[in-house]
Amino acid sequence: MTYHPQQTVKLAIDCLSGEMIQAETLLQIDEAEFSGMRRSAMSARVERKRGGNTVRFLCAICRQALFLSRRKEGNANRWFVHDGKSEECPWYEGNKLTPEQTKALIYRGQQEGAKHQEYKNFLAHWLSKDSHVSKISQEQTTFSEVVKGEWRRPDVKCLYKGKPLVFEVQLSYTFLSDVIARDEFYKREKIFIVWVFSKFELNRAAVTDEAFFNRRNVFVLDDEALKETTDQGVLTFSGYRQLPKLINKNIYDTWESGFVSLGYVTFPTDTFRPYFYNYEAEKTALLALQSKELQRIQLQTWQQSVDEFIDLAIDHYESDCDDDTKNALLSKVDRLKDSSYWREEFKALKEYEFNGWHGVLSVLLSIKLNRPISYSKDFTVYQVIEAGLRTSYKDFGKHANAILYLWACKTYKPTMTTKNHSWISTYAKKVKSSIDNNENIYRRFTGYDEIIKLLFPELRKHLATTFGT
Ligand SMILES: [Zn+2]
Repeated sequence: MTYHPQQTVKLAIDCLSGEMIQAETLLQIDEAEFSGMRRSAMSARVERKRGGNTVRFLCAICRQALFLSRRKEGNANRWFVHDGKSEECPWYEGNKLTPEQTKALIYRGQQEGAKHQEYKNFLAHWLSKDSHVSKISQEQTTFSEVVKGEWRRPDVKCLYKGKPLVFEVQLSYTFLSDVIARDEFYKREKIFIVWVFSKFELNRAAVTDEAFFNRRNVFVLDDEALKETTDQGVLTFSGYRQLPKLINKNIYDTWESGFVSLGYVTFPTDTFRPYFYNYEAEKTALLALQSKELQRIQLQTWQQSVDEFIDLAIDHYESDCDDDTKNALLSKVDRLKDSSYWREEFKALKEYEFNGWHGVLSVLLSIKLNRPISYSKDFTVYQVIEAGLRTSYKDFGKHANAILYLWACKTYKPTMTTKNHSWISTYAKKVKSSIDNNENIYRRFTGYDEIIKLLFPELRKHLATTFGT
């Protein structure tokens, strides 16, 4: 390779032909052809200065417009020049590079040009093996597109199941502005575009831009994908996708890759950006699952607190209703209030008539646990019930809880003698006929229904009836 110091731009795109031009070939063409190219680049430049957007040559790296320059005398040279600043472009002649750096960049440019071509050939070759693919072409641009300033040179273009699809290979520098411009163009033209990378490098801006733009999908033709394609005989990408994962109630995103062939790709007509994995849909599903899981945990915690309340109540009765256990019981009610399952009706848990000595809670617990609670240890459960049937509630009546206790007997079936059992049956019949006669003697007090449903869920079906109310 001869070294031409002015040829910092190694590779240009000819917008008219769609061809790549190696800077070195400028030296091999005849004067008439070179002058024609130079004039055409210059007139496009003049046109742009007047506000137009005509372009003849583009820098293969930064895609900025180029014009042509020459040196006639001495060591003759011809070269491309960026029209304006392009400081991020390694081929920009305004960058003060040492000759060695320039040499290295030129070499890199050549390598990349060749590699880019290899990727395009690879894509085109394997697309041609796919029976769903037709009309494969590489680098074709119509003259009218150039004239309209809408020149686009897709690396590989084809029809996939009748849908227009282009592949753009991004090996090195493609600036986001250029990516966006191309995306917009293809979207407007209703052509699907897949950006193909040769490596997955999250520290490369182009890769991250693409990842977050395209539903966190990146199509990569890395060594594994090239091998898989050859092994399977089907064009296959390493499909990098970001997966949301639920870890300790938080969502963390992790990158994973899996092989993806075109058959697994979705072609959305809103963005025209094919994808194989839908991050947002996954995340939404995960959030729904998370809230369901949270609800389950909350309910479990609530149920546990309710059980603890019952345990504290039993402690309280077994301590002969001392103040310490009473305070523990009441402060437990205060803690229950923190739960989203708390309801105003549960305030009655604090009422002495409910939780106190010989109160409703102690009778129900005695029946359920089949042992006297809050009553003398010498009592039988029958005796507790018998006493309970005669307990009034405030000014509500003498048998305000009789029906409730009869229901509890029926439900929990505590141990009792045949004689006691028969006494209760007779009592129940008496209550029923009184209620049927619309009398008030056994009318049931319903103020504790909600807390009874909470603490004694087995009684819910009875409490749901209007009997005795
Ligand atoms: Zn450039």
